[in-house]
Amino acid sequence: MKRRLKVTALALLTILWFTPAIAQTCADADLLLRNGHIVTMDGARSVVNAMAVRDGKILALGNGDALAGCASSRTQLLDLHRHTVLPGLIDVHTHVMEWAKSILSGEIDADYPAVHSIAEITQAVAHRAATLPPGQWIVGAGWDDSKLAERRYITRQDLDRASPNNPVYLKHVSGHMGAANSAALKLANITKATHDPGGGVIERDASGEPTGILKDTAMGLIAGLLPGDPPDINVRAAQFIFEKAAEVGLTTIHDIFISSDEMRGYQEARRRGWLKIRVQMSPRIGSIADAEKLAEMGVHTGFGDDLLKFGAAKMFADGGMGARTIAIYPPGVIGEPNNLGVLRWTPADMQKAHLIAAGAGWQLETHAIGDRAIDEVLDSYAAVIQQLGLKDHRFRIVHAGISTPAVQKRLRELNVLVDGNPPFVYWIGSWFQKYGPERVRWSYPAKSYIENGIIEAAGSDVPVTPLSPWWGIWAAVVRRDLQSGQILAPEERISVEQALTLYTRNGAYAGFEEDRKGALEPGKLADFIVVDRDVLTVPVDELKDVKVLQTFVSGQSVYDSLSAGHVQ
Ligand SMILES: [Zn+2]
Repeated sequence: MKRRLKVTALALLTILWFTPAIAQTCADADLLLRNGHIVTMDGARSVVNAMAVRDGKILALGNGDALAGCASSRTQLLDLHRHTVLPGLIDVHTHVMEWAKSILSGEIDADYPAVHSIAEITQAVAHRAATLPPGQWIVGAGWDDSKLAERRYITRQDLDRASPNNPVYLKHVSGHMGAANSAALKLANITKATHDPGGGVIERDASGEPTGILKDTAMGLIAGLLPGDPPDINVRAAQFIFEKAAEVGLTTIHDIFISSDEMRGYQEARRRGWLKIRVQMSPRIGSIADAEKLAEMGVHTGFGDDLLKFGAAKMFADGGMGARTIAIYPPGVIGEPNNLGVLRWTPADMQKAHLIAAGAGWQLETHAIGDRAIDEVLDSYAAVIQQLGLKDHRFRIVHAGISTPAVQKRLRELNVLVDGNPPFVYWIGSWFQKYGPERVRWSYPAKSYIENGIIEAAGSDVPVTPLSPWWGIWAAVVRRDLQSGQILAPEERISVEQALTLYTRNGAYAGFEEDRKGALEPGKLADFIVVDRDVLTVPVDELKDVKVLQTFVSGQSVYDSLSAGHVQ
């Protein structure tokens, strides 16, 4: 009896506590959404049909007429016609600036599905060469040998035939290698006698001559010779990014390993009022000197505001699967038993750079795909965490492509997060296969992460896969490889709701923003999207085709498919 009284008293208190609170605070909303299917992604995964917004934040959520009192005569009412609403999606790993600049500067587009063969690429190069004076560079990006009819890397001979007098450099879609012609190799002084730089490979033919393929740090031998960016391109790229991102439902993106010019581009775009979605900028650390410079500036992760801020500091530990340069334990790559990949840092230098950056307040994120590289990074993280006595560090492994049970155990123990890449299984799943079935089993294991309590957020790694997060949400659920049609590690498939969690709540957590975004809850930023179908119940193959009808940031519409354009 006493217990029951207590419960009743608690219930009464709850009613007294919450009812007047809503009546008092939920008034004079700027915007009231009604008649929707609002998937809040809150802790209880509530679904409601109404939401009130004021001053850029969510005021209240509820059902039926519960929020009627929130409206005043000035409140804008939006009938959702039962459409599904989700929190704005978050992509924690992109290279959007690089991608946008490549498009805007008219580089040769060698990306699938724009091209399907080396023949098509060399034709485009020959076309370009015919319009340029000798000596002028021809640059392109996006080729993927696994999707080209010839199923091999582009060689210098391919490019020499198309462009004997103009230097050519075509970046691989992975960002971990490029193909140069003889004119380009000559300008860079790369010959048979040139040694591989540490952390890089100059690929050679049977006679020891460079083939034109430069992997990882070897790309640096040519990077400094490429034509500089046209003026204003960074700010134009920023504007391009905001429009494309809003169109596919992204309201927060992390742009990773960016240069100072690119950071200036974002700041200028913001000054001009062009910044429509939220950006975390992740500066690059390529050397200990970079880490020292970053520390000397006195700013760190989180500096900025809800629109534009600094994210984590980014380093690279190894190479890419496409370039076959990820650092693995034996056995090596299929067909190349001695190839165990490259490590870009000595363990001592990596730890030194990590310690300097983390000591200055930077969250760390380090690219590591092979298990040997992941172990090197985790050794370094463990030492830094201990040395600095860090509690809520949220250090991140970027990709963690080969995440074996041993790796996962360490991730869990150290509370290290994973910036995973759900769309990789579809777009570049064929690259996994070169590493053998045991490694395919542990490639990007989303389900295991959930079961083992490891927090994974999601990234497209644009331009490696397309910007639209719907490819990733779909691929996480089906795990079908584009080339073979096979389901890769079917036991790692996750539900739609779990996939959405990677793109919402977990993305917010990875960016230290879970109090601001990642779910639709009172007090959080009013970043949300309206989509054209009920993503929780549609046939799974439709997930990749989801269209965003409207995107809101801070309660303002930044994209509206019905008015077929962007609301200025
Ligand atoms: Zn990347």
